[in-house]
Amino acid sequence: MCAAAAPLEVDVAIVGGGMVGASLAAALSGSGRRLILVESAPFGTAAQPSFDERTTALGNVSRRIFEGLAVWDRIAPEAAAIRNIHVSEAGRFGFARLVAGEQGVEAFGYVVANRCIGAALWRRLRSAPDLTLQAPARVEDIAVTAAGVRFTVVNESHAAVPVVARLMVAADGAHSQIRNAANIGVDVVDYDQVAVVANIAADRAHEGNAYERFTPAGPLALLPRHDGGLAVIWACRPQRAQALLALEQDAYLAELQSQFGWRAGRFLSAGPRSSYPLRLTRATASVATRTVLIGNAAQALHPVAGQGFNLGLRDAAMLAEVIAGTAGDAGAPEVLRQFVDWRARDRRGVVRFTDGLIRLLGDSRLGAALLRNLGLLMFDLTPPAKSALARVSAGFGGPTPRLARGLSLPHV
Ligand SMILES: Cc1cc2nc3c(=O)[nH]c(=O)nc-3n(C[C@H](O)[C@H](O)[C@H](O)COP(=O)(O)OP(=O)(O)OC[C@H]3O[C@@H](n4cnc5c(N)ncnc54)[C@H](O)[C@@H]3O)c2cc1C
Repeated sequence: MCAAAAPLEVDVAIVGGGMVGASLAAALSGSGRRLILVESAPFGTAAQPSFDERTTALGNVSRRIFEGLAVWDRIAPEAAAIRNIHVSEAGRFGFARLVAGEQGVEAFGYVVANRCIGAALWRRLRSAPDLTLQAPARVEDIAVTAAGVRFTVVNESHAAVPVVARLMVAADGAHSQIRNAANIGVDVVDYDQVAVVANIAADRAHEGNAYERFTPAGPLALLPRHDGGLAVIWACRPQRAQALLALEQDAYLAELQSQFGWRAGRFLSAGPRSSYPLRLTRATASVATRTVLIGNAAQALHPVAGQGFNLGLRDAAMLAEVIAGTAGDAGAPEVLRQFVDWRARDRRGVVRFTDGLIRLLGDSRLGAALLRNLGLLMFDLTPPAKSALARVSAGFGGPTPRLARGLSLPHV
């Protein structure tokens, strides 16, 4: 009879190697902690849902965190700076324009293809000495005790690796398996909207302009891309989304042009369209015994304000800081408590801001439309309001992670 294999002992097991989980692994690698990252898709490829052809608008704080993780140098050549933001409502006169230079920043943020972020993180992680990378692989037989979490990793070749971890991090997205295993519930608000996403080319250079236009069919964002084109994210009712997805390219471009107008030039061509149902999914707790939730596993947001990943990256940066700042057990209750306390304000603020915006935009009553219009006009004329919005990407309060301040993690 052969003896059962001794389990692999790690300090931190990260389940889900998407944009947030992979960022946490990059932050912790080199901190002296033993790590395992388990990802269900082939890591860093377009087959991984987190790293598809979508684009993400990274705020300046996220840029600084990526600099701290030594991945920004690889991302920068494919990042398009957002130098101006133009907000308008179809059929109304009010609009607002934010100019980065007027706010004393070089750019409000940077638009990058998720694929590019994935490739940079993958390069960073594949040679990390203290990290066991399992992808594609899945986690089975999770058993949580007060001392640690035991589970089995089953990989592509059906090999079963027993693992015991001091801390299990759920970074496995909105439908988190780890959240379920920890018996943490979720509150879901279904916005009854679907984002239809495509990359398009126009006959005019974007000059770093990002556009947010509120149309009767839903909010429409056009973001500058590094290749000179624009990324279109159009949130609309599911039926309308189906119709947009079914249109021939020319008909889709004509529809987009009629809803958006001509500010960004004539739309010439469009790449494949894809769709994402939009909900707010919020975990009822963000920690349980030896378990912590980050990124979409903790809170998945509507993309209207481009906050979901930026928020999740701050989760990852702060969790890495709390773990690196403790000499002992990475999954001890006081470590988890510290993380929850430090992240609470930012998380609550971003969720409220994004959810409130969707409700205001979706309100078709005349009063709400006037308020939006007046809001845009006032906003354009009121520098303090502009500065406040320009700062939104810095987070909504609570301590700022060291990595976001350009500092390295603490060493104890
Ligand atoms: C259309 C759209 C546009 C967006 N634009 C922006 C933007 O401009 N700015 C911004 O900040 N945010 C944006 N977001 C939000 C952003 O995409 C998410 O916040 C971000 O992807 C969350 O990353 P995550 O790693 O937490 O989760 P995910 O991206 O969902 O990644 C989860 C990972 O876990 C893996 N996984 C899942 N289950 C398991 C399992 N059981 N075991 C192992 N691995 C598992 C998956 O394969 C995946 O790699 C946008 C979202 C959408 C839909």
